[in-house]
Amino acid sequence: MFGGAFDPPHVAHRELAEVALTQLGLDVLHILPTGQAWHKARPLTSAEHRLAMCELAFGDLPKTRIDPRETLRAGPSYTADTLTELAEAYPGAELYLVMGADQLLAFKQWVRWTEVLDLARLAVAHRAPLISVLDPHPLDLDAADLSGVDVPYVALSMPLHHVSATSIRARASGASQHDPSLDRLVSADVASYISLHHLYQDPS
Ligand code: ATP
Repeated sequence: MFGGAFDPPHVAHRELAEVALTQLGLDVLHILPTGQAWHKARPLTSAEHRLAMCELAFGDLPKTRIDPRETLRAGPSYTADTLTELAEAYPGAELYLVMGADQLLAFKQWVRWTEVLDLARLAVAHRAPLISVLDPHPLDLDAADLSGVDVPYVALSMPLHHVSATSIRARASGASQHDPSLDRLVSADVASYISLHHLYQDPS
């Protein structure tokens, strides 16, 4: 499973999905936009928009399903519950939880993280330290330091992408017209969707 706010889905999400499919030899990849993410203070764009953008961003990948279940849960939604459901849906399967390094560094703050580890192997791509909106091109291009991580994980090999949904929302905010720089950060279809639906007009 590959979960995220996907607000919006961007080029690094897409590459992470591709890398997971090939490097882990997955039979199926569930893309799971979060419901009310308990660890994010910002209100998310509606599930309807995020699911539609995920269809545009990932829909053509083989073996990939956009899975709305977390957006349909009332109240907070936890990865441990989703993995429990997937374990029931695929009896005997080896489950992987795909994530970027920032999520691995915060993993022990997740609700029921030990249960998550019992259910799935973590598959982690390097990620640069999160970029400031004010300084989207930092000189420090090193990957986040994972040397202190003491939970087991499988490393995925992926080039560093200096992109975050936060920086994309900041670029899109207040833009009265389609911002061409968005085309490098999200797919053309997602960029058009953002523009058509006037998403991210308020900075957050
Ligand atoms: P935001 O800026 O709103 O926090 P985000 O860009 O981190 O969003 P999420 O939807 O929160 O995107 O991320 C979903 C998953 O994708 C997480 O596991 C995250 O670590 C991973 N991910 C996001 N961006 C990158 C990136 N540039 N490189 C590697 N992994 C990434």
